[in-house]
Amino acid sequence: MEISRTVKYESELDKDFGNRVMELSGCHKISECIQCGTCSSTCPVSLYMDYTPRKLMAMIKAGFKDEALRSQTIWLCSSCYSCTVMCPAQIKITDVMYSLKRMAIEGGIYPKKAPAPALAKAMADIIARNGRNSEMGVVMEMSLKTNPMNLLKMAPMGLALIKRGRMEIKDFYHRDKIKNRRQLHDLVKGLKKEA
Ligand code: SF4
Ligand code: SF4
Repeated sequence: MEISRTVKYESELDKDFGNRVMELSGCHKISECIQCGTCSSTCPVSLYMDYTPRKLMAMIKAGFKDEALRSQTIWLCSSCYSCTVMCPAQIKITDVMYSLKRMAIEGGIYPKKAPAPALAKAMADIIARNGRNSEMGVVMEMSLKTNPMNLLKMAPMGLALIKRGRMEIKDFYHRDKIKNRRQLHDLVKGLKKEA
């Protein structure tokens, strides 16, 4: 049995982490969190999170950077905005979750085999390529990166959706594209340069 320390020393914290997060869009009010727990009690998926939204706000302020960015919480957030609507301090908790996701992706410390980040990446890649999303494309790319066997499991549902006209077979080839994609590609290239 491996015994490891579960308590973090103060010297191991990233004291400036909270300030860096608070500079990001929608995150500036984190310092006003009163730890009331309304967000956690409102959140429909907090039951499955490793850190509740309330705890995550405290961790950001205290400098628990690794724990916050490696948490399952940010990927389980379904962006329902209940917490943001209910927060008495008007903290945009959903935006904070998005900011942490972006930081985790930039730092390369997101769970690469988990479906949520793979889904987000597949959708962003397809939109950057074609200017439009493709449901079938997202499912294909996400499954190939996480668990290709899922494609077999999902095949009956996919066929039923196609049969009822809820999904198009042409979607499979990512044919739903905007005109003049070159402009879009230049825009994406410019944004990447600036980042
Ligand atoms: S509801 Fe707002 S103030 Fe209350 S714990 Fe959550 S983030 Fe903090
Ligand atoms: S937006 Fe995310 S964190 Fe907030 S209540 Fe919904 S699922 Fe929970």
